[in-house]
Amino acid sequence: TRKYLVTGSASGIGLATASRLREEGHTVIGVDIAGAEINADLSTAEGRAELVAQATALSDGVLDGVIAVAGLVAPKPVTVAVNYFGAVATLEGLRPLLAASTAPRAAVVASLAALEDVDDRLLQLLEAGDEAAALAHADALGATANAAGSSVLYTTSKLAVARWVRRAAPTAPWAGDGIALNAIAPGVIETPMTKAALETEEGRKALDEGAPAPFNGPAAPPTAPAALLDWLTSADNAYVTGQVVFIDGGAEAIRRPELV
Ligand code: NAD
Repeated sequence: TRKYLVTGSASGIGLATASRLREEGHTVIGVDIAGAEINADLSTAEGRAELVAQATALSDGVLDGVIAVAGLVAPKPVTVAVNYFGAVATLEGLRPLLAASTAPRAAVVASLAALEDVDDRLLQLLEAGDEAAALAHADALGATANAAGSSVLYTTSKLAVARWVRRAAPTAPWAGDGIALNAIAPGVIETPMTKAALETEEGRKALDEGAPAPFNGPAAPPTAPAALLDWLTSADNAYVTGQVVFIDGGAEAIRRPELV
């Protein structure tokens, strides 16, 4: 059995992932703002430091898998702080614990929404790693939405984290240490995040028009991404790294069929 750390473990995709891994007999250290083994606010530097300190103690310095799921969609700077800086801090901060494993694997949850329009200036600031400037710009953007009606804070944070994975995965600290690093990009998943929209006919129609999912759509239960995260972070994943795997009922294939 393996030792995993899963952020966002108190709800939705993170909860389904932690539950699946535990049912398989693995040890899981859950992380969330409350109600987890490690309670830490990943929007802050203190919370991220607390995560690394407690994870190091609870894992005896070795983790086989790290899965960064925590995130939110609110059109506020905190979304950028958690979805991008919190996720990168989780993966970078715990990389030394992964390096001590014989089959280390990491994954992060991006989104199908990363394919929608983003804010270019915010993307630049995220790629430069300038959190103070990024949060100030995010504050100025406020509730700015793109043509699809999505918060650009959300779409930009998800594109940035997916690109970070593709840049980091093949480099020495990751691939060189035998650590697989991938992202998944879910379409619509039935969790508290999408509950309100999925409850109304109008909301379901808007989600389905935005991202039609002909295979088993219009939405999937959180057990679907949990199964994919399980495999990507298992020892069975011997050669997949730097990928953004869309789990969306076919939405991405419809959107850009020319891309292979
Ligand atoms: P959710 O709201 O059920 O779960 C998110 C979890 O993240 C919660 O437990 C929450 O407490 C935690 N979290 C939020 N802010 C935090 C912070 N500052 N510190 C620590 N933990 C924090 O939502 P979900 O649908 O399970 O979302 C999980 C991930 O999947 C998110 O990154 C989300 O963007 C992504 N995603 C979801 C969907 C979907 O349709 N549900 C689609 C694409 C991507």
